[in-house]
Formats: sequence, structure tokens, C-alpha cells
Amino acid sequence: MSAFDGRGGYDGTTPVNTTVFVTFYGEKMISPMHRRIFLKWLPTAALPTASSSMAQTYEPFDFVMARSAFIDRIEKIRRSGALPIIDVESSYNPLEINLDSLTASMDRAGIALMCLSVDQPGKLVNQGQIWSDHAIDAYRKYPSHFIPTGNGGNHPAWTKFPERFLDAQENKLLEHRYPMMGEFEVRHYPSPRQIQRGELFRDVDFAMDGPLMERVFSLSEKYSIPFQIHYEIEDRLLDPLERMLTKFPKAKVIWCHLAQIRYQQRSSRYSPSMIGDWLEKYPNLYIDTAFADFMSTYQPSGERHARFWNNSKDWVELISSKPYRFLAALDIGGDRVNRVEEWTGTLRKFLGTLPQPTREIVAYKAAWRLLFNEVL
Ligand SMILES: [Zn+2]
Repeated sequence: MSAFDGRGGYDGTTPVNTTVFVTFYGEKMISPMHRRIFLKWLPTAALPTASSSMAQTYEPFDFVMARSAFIDRIEKIRRSGALPIIDVESSYNPLEINLDSLTASMDRAGIALMCLSVDQPGKLVNQGQIWSDHAIDAYRKYPSHFIPTGNGGNHPAWTKFPERFLDAQENKLLEHRYPMMGEFEVRHYPSPRQIQRGELFRDVDFAMDGPLMERVFSLSEKYSIPFQIHYEIEDRLLDPLERMLTKFPKAKVIWCHLAQIRYQQRSSRYSPSMIGDWLEKYPNLYIDTAFADFMSTYQPSGERHARFWNNSKDWVELISSKPYRFLAALDIGGDRVNRVEEWTGTLRKFLGTLPQPTREIVAYKAAWRLLFNEVL
């Protein structure tokens, strides 16, 4: 029985057999180069078999083929006089997305590329579809706008079925060669918008140094791709993260939401100098800069949680000293997918505080180097 749901969804239960095709001068063929790269990835048990050639075939993401469309778009935005942005952290609900209007808003906002990651809706998870490849489909439809990113680790696929979710994650990394995994909610308070809606279920608390996250760090090392963590900034959470960064030195970790502290009382250690030390000690640690504007308040604490603005001079100094470790991010989600321009305005306000060439590096060059191992 097929583990696929007919539109690219995968139920995460069985290993995927796949035959690798690329389109080459209009013809579909197995690419020798691709085959070589891909076979290196595949465990022997998952090698293509005669019977698998009857199954639906998928073209994995291939940077060599994707590159020119990406570069053209960045250049086009630069020529228009705007600063191009690669957004490393955005997600969406595949049942509700309107890709035409999302890409139109990216065009208006000067977002060159968006690392797009599915938040698998609870409705589908409850029907047994723990994973969706919609982000790959979106990339195929708009190959100059999206960088397909693995599904985010969030509720309920990750919170209720973490092992199955990670099985699916690995199978899909092998099958589609996503260049990045999505955002794993490790410690996540309810978001401000969820509190407004009275949805308090999203109080996620996984052990950063437990077996599940060990598996995530291992996947990152094994396939040499980054993943994102949502990990609230609290004193008690710092040591477990340091233990993992020490134990998995090759894992590429993007800690999302620079200086977003929701309860200052719980956080006395985090500061520009602490992050500066960590970036020295852990060369594969990156920080994304999705945070709100100065006035934004986290309702439960009543505090302004985007602390960058309280101490922007020291943060800017740090970012300028290590610009390739900080990444522009919008943090668009399923409940705000129509607010790309507004969110980009906040991001550009932050980018505007950075001197050149730091501004340009954080806006898109750092993400490009991290994802594609190439300096623009
Ligand atoms: Zn987050």
C-alpha cells in the first residue's frame, strides 16, 4: 500500500522508494551527477528498485538547477533600488494559502526569496497525514520565489506524534533534498495572536537535550542542513542548549527571534556579550532576526518583548562584528500570510539600523551562504 495520499502527502509510516529524475534540456532523464549525489544520501535499503519505477516520481530540490532563477530575482530587486531580502523563516497552512497573492505581496515588498515551510493543519494530522510536501509544489510553481523548507515541528504533528513526524522528516529529506528543515517548537509560549484568540494550547515544552531533539541535531549533522528552533529565552533553558551545541558541533542551528524575551524576570543571562561568546564557541550557531517592533507587547507579561530596541547600539555592534551569523526573517505564519508587506516594514526598520555592508549581508547574503555554501 502506498504511503502517499495522492497529492504528495506522506503518512510517515513506510520508507520511501524513489527514482530520481531531472529535467534536462526538456527531457526527463536520470541525471548522472544527480544520481551520484543522491545515491550518497540514500541508505542501501532505500535504493530505487524496479517496482519503484512504477510509482509516482518526484524531482528533488537541486540547487544547481534552482540557482539562476534565484539570482535573477535578487538582481532584479537590486536593480530596482530596493534591498533584496531572503526570509529564512516563514510558514503557512497549505489548505488556505493563495500562492498568487503571496508572491504578489513578496514582489511589492522586495522579498526576493522566502524559505517556505508547511504547518501541517491539525485536520490533516488527525486524518493520518502527518506530513505535506506542499512547499515543494509551491517551489515548483514559483521557482524564483520559494526555497522549499521541511515542515515545521509544531502542533499537533510534532507535539502529538514526534517520532512519526521525525520519521517522515528524514524520509522526506532523502526524497526531496529540502535544503533546510523548518522551525521546531522546543519551548514556545502561546503567541500574542493565539492569546487574542483564546488558543492557549500552544504551550510547548520539549527538552532541548532529550532524545527527540538529539535526533533533530543528528539529522542536521547527517545531511548537513540547518534547522530552526523556537526556544524562549530563559536562564534555565540556556545550559541544555549549550550541551547540545557542544555535543553536535556540526549541526547547523538557527535560533529564531533575536532578543525576543517575553518575561524579563526569567532572563538575566542573555545579552549581546553572551551571544557574542556563544557565536565564538559554536561556529554553526545562527540567529534569525524575526522580532516585533518596539511598541509590541506580550500580553501575559505586559512587557515589550522585542528587546533589540532597548539596546540596539550593542546589538548592532555585535551583528556588525559577525554579520554572516544573523539572518533576516519575517516569521509569516498561517494566520498572517496576508501581512507580508507590513511585516517586511518592521524587518526593514531593523535592517535600516545596520551599517553597510552588514545590512546587505544580513538581508540576504548570510542566508545564501548558510544554505548554499556560496558567497554572493
Ligand atoms: Zn518562532
